[in-house]
Amino acid sequence: MTENITVVEWSRSYIFGILKTFHIKILSMKKINLPAIFFFLLFTSISISQNSVQDSIMLKKLYSTALTDGKAYDWLDYLSNEIGGRLSGSFEAERAVEYTEEMLNELGLDKVWLQPVMVPKWTRGFKEYAFIEGSTGEKSVVDICALGGSVATPNLGIKAEVVEVQGLDELAALGKEKLAGKIVFYNRPMQADIIQTFEAYGGCVDQRYAGAAEAGKYGALGVIVRSMNLRMDDFPHTGSMSYGDTPVNQRIPAAAISTNGAEYLSSLLKLQPSLQFYFKQNCKVFDDVQSYNVIGEITGSTKPNEYMVVGGHLDSWDLADGAHDDGAGCVQSMEVLRLFKKVGYKPKHTIRVVLFMNEENGLRGGNKYAEEAKRKNEVHRFALESDAGGFTPRGFSFDGDEANFKKVQSWEPLFKPYLIHYFEKGHGGADIGPLKDNIDMLAGLRPDSQRYFDYHHAANDTFDAVNKRELELGVASMASLMYLFDMHGTR
Ligand SMILES: [Zn+2]
Repeated sequence: MTENITVVEWSRSYIFGILKTFHIKILSMKKINLPAIFFFLLFTSISISQNSVQDSIMLKKLYSTALTDGKAYDWLDYLSNEIGGRLSGSFEAERAVEYTEEMLNELGLDKVWLQPVMVPKWTRGFKEYAFIEGSTGEKSVVDICALGGSVATPNLGIKAEVVEVQGLDELAALGKEKLAGKIVFYNRPMQADIIQTFEAYGGCVDQRYAGAAEAGKYGALGVIVRSMNLRMDDFPHTGSMSYGDTPVNQRIPAAAISTNGAEYLSSLLKLQPSLQFYFKQNCKVFDDVQSYNVIGEITGSTKPNEYMVVGGHLDSWDLADGAHDDGAGCVQSMEVLRLFKKVGYKPKHTIRVVLFMNEENGLRGGNKYAEEAKRKNEVHRFALESDAGGFTPRGFSFDGDEANFKKVQSWEPLFKPYLIHYFEKGHGGADIGPLKDNIDMLAGLRPDSQRYFDYHHAANDTFDAVNKRELELGVASMASLMYLFDMHGTR
């Protein structure tokens, strides 16, 4: 029943749209050729409404199949619970490569292969340990974790007074005199009144990324960074950081502290500014190791040499299973190709699923894929990434020219029955970003982001945090957009 109503609604709205456009044309024309106008109106309306009817039926099929006969959740279960955290260069990352390659092979795609890429290898080592020591010697243990890429502390750890700052500007204002020999504590929280949580994240992630390199310049011994998390809890959140061009022997260790820990430390500092903080971590950097992007494709029926990509990143941080970040995006992308086969849709363009390696601490997989595409002169038309968690989809952000964006906007009514309404210009995704100069349009799935940073890069990013239905709605939305771009092309 819904299907019929939907079809009628779309036909009506499209025909009405054409009439409206046409009416404007009539007013602007000096000589009016009535029979020509009549046939133009008839044919345009019929062909456009047929298109939209066909599209709306296909979207319904994709959503129904994703919700009743999906595979993504089972794959994610295996990836999370049987393999676990998949940091680049780890044994688990290699198992994830083997597993997803095997799953793609089972789908009977036209081609499945591994694209070699060298990746960095950093290990956390033994669990980190930290405490706050008051002036009378009492100690409170707090939860920390090393930031990805950080150096270890000396064997016996570091103990020093703490200087709390709200960011890099305040750090620079304090200078060497106040910071030398101290531990710098970056405590600027994610801004709670920003609705787009990724924006709030972007507003304070510089502390994590560049905090150690900057504090090191002023003679600080180490840095502790408030976790990028809007919720108050005990999970420290890791994430990438960079020393920039700091010489190896001048690099200082960096760790994240949970939001509860950060509030506690900050309030104690107000009472006892000379308290001491101790932390010890055991991370290590090794030489680069061999790894792979996992790629599968359905060869296009009429445009086999024009490519459309759907993907996520296969690596994750090591503290948990990376179920949201980005196990969800990987299984969703694999599922798009499975759905096409399941509903019997034969794409015109070659549709590729790419599971990128090393997004978290290097982006080597994304760079490698784009490099190879350029080297082989492959024509890429469209790429879609899912790397914002497996939550209820709201829509997509698009990075491309105005003509393609207009085209995308004309598809908005097709998504209305599925509560997908966010069609905005914006970021596509980190892994597909390097394709930008060689592609018509990039897009990113935009799920509801309000809970994403509760889990992001923390020990609670586990399978149970992903809702099956929400994951599947994401799959169906992605498959629908891929279908529309394949069907109607870019430009
Ligand atoms: Zn991610």
